[in-house]
Amino acid sequence: MLEGKETKMKEAMLYTPLEEGKVQCYLCSHRCIISLSRRGICGVRENKDGKLYTLVFGRAISLNIDPIEKKPLYHLFPGSTSFSIATVGCNFRCLQCQNHEISQMPVNEGRIEGRAVPPSQIVSLAKEHRCQSISYTYTEPTIYFEYAYETAVIARKEGVKNIFVTNGYMTEETLRMIRPYLDAANVDLKSFQEKFYKEVCGAKLKPVLENLKLMKQMGIWVEITTLVIPTLNDSDKEFEEIAQFIVSLGPEVPWHISAFYPTYKMTDLPRTPASLVHRAREIGMKAGLRYVYCGNIPGEEGEDTFCPHCGRRIVERTGFRVVKNEIVKGECGYCHSKIDGIWD
Ligand code: SF4
Repeated sequence: MLEGKETKMKEAMLYTPLEEGKVQCYLCSHRCIISLSRRGICGVRENKDGKLYTLVFGRAISLNIDPIEKKPLYHLFPGSTSFSIATVGCNFRCLQCQNHEISQMPVNEGRIEGRAVPPSQIVSLAKEHRCQSISYTYTEPTIYFEYAYETAVIARKEGVKNIFVTNGYMTEETLRMIRPYLDAANVDLKSFQEKFYKEVCGAKLKPVLENLKLMKQMGIWVEITTLVIPTLNDSDKEFEEIAQFIVSLGPEVPWHISAFYPTYKMTDLPRTPASLVHRAREIGMKAGLRYVYCGNIPGEEGEDTFCPHCGRRIVERTGFRVVKNEIVKGECGYCHSKIDGIWD
């Protein structure tokens, strides 16, 4: 591992110099104003002598080959693998973060770790391992934007798809910059309450909703994930609000409803019962969504894709494994209706 400042820092994109050596970063919706020698909320962008630098460029903390179903993306090359990368750091403070050791490392431990892996090497590794996509995931890709961006540009040239697994808190400027290279995103819609975003994540709901709308307008393939946490975001009202919002984006947007288990700073709440996830799925289907999935509850039909036209099971999954795929050239193999997604 390479520690702290042993690697050369790279000047950040998307910031403005201000008076008295301060800078304003506009990579994410926090839009931090950062004084000399200080870092932003994410802990990985530092003001050095009036210039903003990223501390995580080319410094991968995780490199894995994952099934695309793990992102989760169910409507992009089912059964394929996605080369998955992350650096340390995050702009959220989620109390239930499953990756807190790396996402909160710069803030909780004051350390920035990572292995030197340049963007070109990431693309080469992805191709070498026959991955059809690169996922910028585990922590928040927005905060390592320069690294993700350079990698995505090369990947696009090499015919490898780019996927953000994100909290959706980037700015519009960031989204417009990555748009030409970004094929798909799985966006967390953690709740439909501002209170939840403030108290559980240290952020705001509104920018996430705005970005989801913008991503759809831009033609990015979007799937949405909601982690259902008992007592915090588990009412029928909230499920209905989320479902209605997703319908307004488009009934073709898949909704992944996932079960919580106690972790990090949220160990005082129980696991989410399967019945609650099923309830949310029912509400999503009733609202008019074509594809609603249950996560973290393997071995049931909530993992499978059904043709919205004929109702036949067209993709069967067990955990992250695809056991049957009856989608042919983007069509249902039974009734030949078009199935929403990226298939070829
Ligand atoms: S990425 Fe977000 S949290 Fe980090 S410095 Fe920029 S505005 Fe602040």
